[in-house]
Amino acid sequence: MSEKLTDLFGSDVFNDATMIERLPKKTYAALKKTIENGEDLDPNVAEVVANAMKDWAIERGATHYTHWFQPMTGITAEKHDSFISPTADGKIMMEFSGKELIKGEPDASSFPSGGLRATFEARGYTAWDCTSPAFLREDAAGVTLCIPTAFCSYTGEALDMKTPLLRSMEALSTQAVRIVKLFGHDVKRVSASVGPEQEYFLVDKAKYLKRDDLIFTGRTLFGTMPPKGQELDDHYFGSIKERVSSFMKELNTELWKMGVTSKTQHNEVAPAQHELAPIYASANIATDHNQLVMESMKKVANRHNLTCLLHEKPFAGVNGSGKHDNWSMVTDTGKNLLEPGKTPHDNVQFLLILAAVLKAVDIHSDLLRVSAANPGNDHRLGANEAPPAIVSVFLGTQLEDVLAQLIETGEAKSSKDGGKLNIGVHTIPELKKDATDRNRTSPFAFTGNKFEFRMVASSMSIATANTVLNTIVADVLSEMADELENASNFDLAVHDLIKKTLTDHQRIVFNGNGYSEEWVEEAAKRGLPNITSMVEAIPALVTDKSVKMFEKHHVFSSVELHSRVEIQYEAYAKAINIEAKTMISMASVKYIPAVISYAKKLADSINAIKSAVPDADVSVQSGLLKEISSLLAKTQVALKKLQDVTAEAAEISDVPEMAKFFKDAVVPAMAELRAPVDALEVKVEKELWPVPTYGDLLFEV
Ligand code: ADP
Ligand code: MG
Repeated sequence: MSEKLTDLFGSDVFNDATMIERLPKKTYAALKKTIENGEDLDPNVAEVVANAMKDWAIERGATHYTHWFQPMTGITAEKHDSFISPTADGKIMMEFSGKELIKGEPDASSFPSGGLRATFEARGYTAWDCTSPAFLREDAAGVTLCIPTAFCSYTGEALDMKTPLLRSMEALSTQAVRIVKLFGHDVKRVSASVGPEQEYFLVDKAKYLKRDDLIFTGRTLFGTMPPKGQELDDHYFGSIKERVSSFMKELNTELWKMGVTSKTQHNEVAPAQHELAPIYASANIATDHNQLVMESMKKVANRHNLTCLLHEKPFAGVNGSGKHDNWSMVTDTGKNLLEPGKTPHDNVQFLLILAAVLKAVDIHSDLLRVSAANPGNDHRLGANEAPPAIVSVFLGTQLEDVLAQLIETGEAKSSKDGGKLNIGVHTIPELKKDATDRNRTSPFAFTGNKFEFRMVASSMSIATANTVLNTIVADVLSEMADELENASNFDLAVHDLIKKTLTDHQRIVFNGNGYSEEWVEEAAKRGLPNITSMVEAIPALVTDKSVKMFEKHHVFSSVELHSRVEIQYEAYAKAINIEAKTMISMASVKYIPAVISYAKKLADSINAIKSAVPDADVSVQSGLLKEISSLLAKTQVALKKLQDVTAEAAEISDVPEMAKFFKDAVVPAMAELRAPVDALEVKVEKELWPVPTYGDLLFEV
């Protein structure tokens, strides 16, 4: 790398250092107040910032700016404007006003609004989110100044993922500050810190382009496992192939320039699967950065003749992709509220907050579940793959023991220590062990000083998951603060509250194997919901408890929640419809004709041999011909059925009903069509098979 990494990092970000350098002291101070303390933004400040931002961007080659926002499609949206402004003498000058920085008005009637806006009232606004820094993006389009924004309707309803997230961060801050103050600490803000680990697949682009299913749906709709899958565990943390590492190198550089702290990279469990994790940041920035990570992965892969698949389940039979959302709460004084310290049993504030999280997850596990729901994740959660669809919390031996002491005796007297690790080789240093082992099967695991929510879908924005997490914890903290602020004896009250909360919600704690059948039974006994599909998860958004909670903390209005329900059902129905239509097309114009060709080849062979040597043995050819003809007939029957049910689905006008029909009738019909085609794939001559196979895609990068 020609440039030093320390200089390169954040060089395309209008970050704090740049602002100090380029803004008048007063402007900088005013803007910082807004960013750090959530104070209202003065329009005059915006004017000065806009000008400085423009100069900085233009010096770096920018010609355009865009408000960068996150509509409910789950991906980002942008509309580019150049800085040019005509002058009287027929020339141009470069302009960018405070108004243009603060407010945009994309005519965005084509974004999903769930009934919040009819097309005739198309007005939507984007509003500058100064808590996430503006950045430059460099690609074939040149250099563009990207300004993170929130997106709302003419009537102020959120039409995006960011607005509710920002609202939830405020709610969490307000309530957590109340709690921390009760313990005598002077803090002004508490912010949610998030580190999302992103899993993805890389496949060869030329092969990708031969598969309509990957192109249209992001996943393979047909295909059988090659002789080798992931059973040897030789890919996980394996050495990275050069083509992939050169992709990673360029990706890192791109991300670092934009201020994304790309930190960890490794091969994942499945062949062709990888992971990238940044260093954690405030929930809002982490969410923006995760979008940049996903976008950059796609772009950079393309330049390396690779295609990045972010789908949750690109290949049946091998591990899918998820996003582990690491979450904690940090005060403006730099203290992590989920840090138990060496002796968690006497860290009362930690125990109270831990109890609050357990209660929040127990009461609102249905909301966490829906926050991780998308059509792709239906193949992971509750299918034969981790994590299970049942939300439970893993605490680990140390905290579980503290919890047991508290519940049993009302007091916790000790904390188990991890001890030392003896490897049995003198030259290897003795290591201190963590007090707790890991549990990879838990959907919500305490991992030392943070929780790791492991259900989130790989292709989804992490905004909703964190909006839910922030709000449910804020809600419990607010109840606790109400109770404790009025207590006559705080120490006694907090002690009782911890004990009661832990006792009431201990059913959510599970430290065993989350993948086992026994857990499904045990969870049912405990009354924990097991919601196995997106369609069944969606209603959780608008239960009475959910509406009441979100409204109380001003995160979502009831209208916004209902619109999101509508959007989700619609998104599900559309996704399955596209999958079904893609299958129909692939079966009709690719697989069936290919099998017919092979059948003809066999028949020709039989005829040719018979005419040459009438008593020759052609049992192999005729046996095969019979087998594939029978499978071909089955394919045709299944194809017809899928066509029928897909057509039937299109007739349903009620969106939730339609989504249910897609799940209950279309998805099974898709499986029925896949089965004979997959069986044919291992019988038909490879040269005649019309698309690259799993073997070609997974092992030939
Ligand atoms: P794992 O071993 O779980 O795969 P990784 O190193 O891949 O761990 O990712 C862990 C993620 O958790 C990183 O993004 C890291 O920055 C983040 N993280 C670490 N500490 C915290 C914290 N206190 N709050 C939120 N995220 C954190
Ligand atoms: Mg990891």
